[in-house]
Amino acid sequence: MSEKAPTFHPGETVPLSGIYECDCGQSHRWDTSTNVKNHTFPPLPEDCPGGAWAMKDPAHPAD
Ligand SMILES: [Zn+2]
Repeated sequence: MSEKAPTFHPGETVPLSGIYECDCGQSHRWDTSTNVKNHTFPPLPEDCPGGAWAMKDPAHPAD
């Protein structure tokens, strides 16, 4: 299995709420479990050599 999570760059629109992790391997996280409507991805942490955010754990809407 080589399913790759889609990645998003700072400034792109956030499609789904959840926990995003950068792609540098140091587990910098951005948790957006609140309403993300019309939000955009933040810049990566200053000490992060990565370049994109990847969906790590989607928030589960109440069902
Ligand atoms: Zn990072």
